[in-house]
Amino acid sequence: MTLHIFSPGRVNLIGDHTDYTGGLVLPMAIDRYTEIHGRRTGDVVNLRSVDEPEPVVLPLLVDHPEAVDPAWGRYVAGVVSEMQHPHGFVGEVTTDIPIGSGLSSSAALEVAVALALGFEGTSIELAQLCQRAEQRASGVPCGIMDQLCIAAGVRDHALLIDCGDLSIEPVAIPADAEIVVQHIAHRTLVGSAYADRVRECAQAEQLIGPLRHATFAQARTIDDPVVRARAMHVTSENLRVTQFVAALRSGELRHAGQLMVESHRSLAEHYATSTPAMDAAVERLCATPGVFGARMTGGGFGGCVVALTEPGALSHGWVVRAVDGARIER
Ligand code: ADP
Ligand code: MG
Repeated sequence: MTLHIFSPGRVNLIGDHTDYTGGLVLPMAIDRYTEIHGRRTGDVVNLRSVDEPEPVVLPLLVDHPEAVDPAWGRYVAGVVSEMQHPHGFVGEVTTDIPIGSGLSSSAALEVAVALALGFEGTSIELAQLCQRAEQRASGVPCGIMDQLCIAAGVRDHALLIDCGDLSIEPVAIPADAEIVVQHIAHRTLVGSAYADRVRECAQAEQLIGPLRHATFAQARTIDDPVVRARAMHVTSENLRVTQFVAALRSGELRHAGQLMVESHRSLAEHYATSTPAMDAAVERLCATPGVFGARMTGGGFGGCVVALTEPGALSHGWVVRAVDGARIER
């Protein structure tokens, strides 16, 4: 029997670098997909990707996913190694999510592979498995936002995720708003400062307790200027997510846009995850009529920016729609 798996990418509207301290995020699954076509058969996983020259061939027992060759196979191997009883599988991967651009092609691939290999369980369990897979594959201590958004997406809604208790509240995208993504630069989080940020947040938490419950005023009392700045971002960003959700719900799109710009500024100044090209793109977008606000999205150091606009305001970029989470068709 041939299986067909659809696993969306995601764009984060607001709430970046808050997931790994149990904070608030507001991503949405988008209408760009990684797809796997294939059959459950045999006792190896054999996947080809149209975006990679080398196929991935793996046994069903993998001890060191981080050592697999070719490198893209590490994400596949991470999933194989985290599954209890993966099925053998032969198939092909295609995607129209730009790879390595902050729209989470890696999590889309992991979730698709888990479904292909016969994962059974809740979307939270699926996301947790794929988060562990990504951490093992890449060595990046990533949070759960990407995997959970892709597993649990809701059509026409963003997801307010509390990464502390993993509760999810769908938030309707207003009909008079458009979400536009612009690609700025390819990047990788492997070996990037992402792990430094995770460590700096842990240092802040030793001083003022869990960042999820700390205030901006507490963050400002930290002596070390770098750790202080990181904590100032996270505490203010959690608050901005709540305010952004309220603004969306009451149709105050201008206010929502302002919060996006504040988020970008905080990521640039306090969290140092933006780049000059991303700053310039946000500035350009905000000067364009019909744009309520814009910000970098995802881990940063390159990738994409996201804008909240009136319908039709931008001629450059992809208008993305919120879609349901990953699914399998038989
Ligand atoms: P992002 O998730 O933002 O796109 P990452 O650096 O986290 O960027 O993940 C990109 C990596 O994921 C690629 O370098 C590749 O190893 C793997 N990957 C993602 N999608 C595919 C695909 N369709 N085919 C092969 N590898 C993929
Ligand atoms: Mg990724």
